[in-house]
Order: sequence, then C-alpha cells, then structure tokens
Amino acid sequence: MRLVVDLNRCQGYAQCAFLAPDVFAMHGDEGLLYDPQAAAAQRERVLQAAAACPVQAILVDGLDLAATAPAAASHGEASDG
Ligand code: SF4
Repeated sequence: MRLVVDLNRCQGYAQCAFLAPDVFAMHGDEGLLYDPQAAAAQRERVLQAAAACPVQAILVDGLDLAATAPAAASHGEASDG
C-alpha cells in the first residue's frame, strides 16, 4: 500500500507514530519519517493513524481523508426565503 504525508500540514503531533510505529517515526530535527510503501499488513494501523491525525496530513492510496468534507446530506431541501 502507498501513503503520503503532507509534511506542510503535519504538526508533529506523533499520533501516527504512536498508532503505527512500524510505519511512522518522529525523528528529532527532521520531524516525521515514514514508509511511503508500507506493507499491506500495516494497512489497518495506517488507516487508524490517518484517522487520528489531528490535521489529516496522512493520505492513503486513493483514500483522500483530507477531502472528506463533513457533508450534511439533507433530503427534501426547503427553498424558503
Ligand atoms: S499524526 Fe499527523 S500531525 Fe501528527 S506527526 Fe503524524 S502526520 Fe504529523
């Protein structure tokens, strides 16, 4: 599986390193290091890390979490003034 971390967005909260330590690691001055070609076995952990990232900096495969807007689907919209 492939993943990308938007390092401009990353604030170094290290939630990802806590949840998926085999994929993400905090590294002193350099900030976050990660494995962009994580093993498939890590997928569940990586998804947890992506979900836990406070700034949604982790993008997994085609799964763009950052683009997931909190869309409030409304049926029967009232166009009233
Ligand atoms: S959880 Fe998000 S903000 Fe924190 S280190 Fe990981 S990618 Fe960066």
